[in-house]
Amino acid sequence: MAQEYIEIKGARENNLKNVSLKIPKRKITIFTGVSGSGKSSLVFDTIAMEAQRLLAENFSTFLRGFMPKYPQPAADSLANLNMAVVIDQKRLGGGSHSTVGTITDISSILRLLFSRAGKPSIGGAHLFSFNDPKGMCPECNGLGRKMGFNMDLFLDESKSLNEGAVLYPGYAPGNWEWNILNESHLFDMDKKIADYTKEEKDLLLYGKAQKVSLKFGGKSVNLTYEGAIEKLTNKYIKKDLKAYSAKTQKTVEPYLSMGTCPLCKGARLSPEALGVKVGGHNIAELQAMEVDELAEVVRALSAPQAEPILEALESRLTHLCDIGL
Ligand SMILES: [Zn+2]
Repeated sequence: MAQEYIEIKGARENNLKNVSLKIPKRKITIFTGVSGSGKSSLVFDTIAMEAQRLLAENFSTFLRGFMPKYPQPAADSLANLNMAVVIDQKRLGGGSHSTVGTITDISSILRLLFSRAGKPSIGGAHLFSFNDPKGMCPECNGLGRKMGFNMDLFLDESKSLNEGAVLYPGYAPGNWEWNILNESHLFDMDKKIADYTKEEKDLLLYGKAQKVSLKFGGKSVNLTYEGAIEKLTNKYIKKDLKAYSAKTQKTVEPYLSMGTCPLCKGARLSPEALGVKVGGHNIAELQAMEVDELAEVVRALSAPQAEPILEALESRLTHLCDIGL
């Protein structure tokens, strides 16, 4: 009958004071108590921690080196544990689907797989981590999101430059930036932006700095032309907007919005890491899959140089499928 209970003796994790208890198996047990009474210390830091530590012992020492470390919890003994599935708000936020990217140990094994079996080979597992300076996308520093100008507020494509297509202050007809556009003779000022070619639009918004000779009041002036977004990004986003005056901040802020990083498209990794494929997929594609989908892909893979890694991955995924995560 001993197997009917999980037995904990002398638990002392965090503020637990030598707690011993039995928890019935195959029943729903709810831990209640005032804040600070040690519910989480017992459930997450003692029971779940030990269960995950035991699970991790199934992997080879080599693989464990790449997995999260589970310290032995402070307790005299824990008996009759099953494998634990820890589900909390942090991991499975908002009832959304759990992709494998959110399961830490699978991400670790995937990074290892890509470092061993990925084509082209670029080196170690850390190059596939968005937390590592060498693996993260250089544009968004591994966040996947980036501050940029909200184009809906910035530009009215149904208008021409002469009709005030650029809505940002300074670009209205007669204003300074509009004068530069007008005098540069780089643009058709009467053509609607929607009718611009991709090249024309790129020059207007993202054109790199170039010298132009303008005529102002009959005089020739040499100025630098820069695409509007390029110029404002260099000025306000690449530097700290907070360093500007309150008035400037107030002008710029309404036009800014947080969006998907244009370089990594939200994948958080460097272009080098995203260029590496295993079985036709890059690591971000695999991490975005749900468990059963990835299990199918992994079963179809063959990588002689990474056989133990594939086996570990497959057994972990099968396990997760079995428990219905
Ligand atoms: Zn990025």
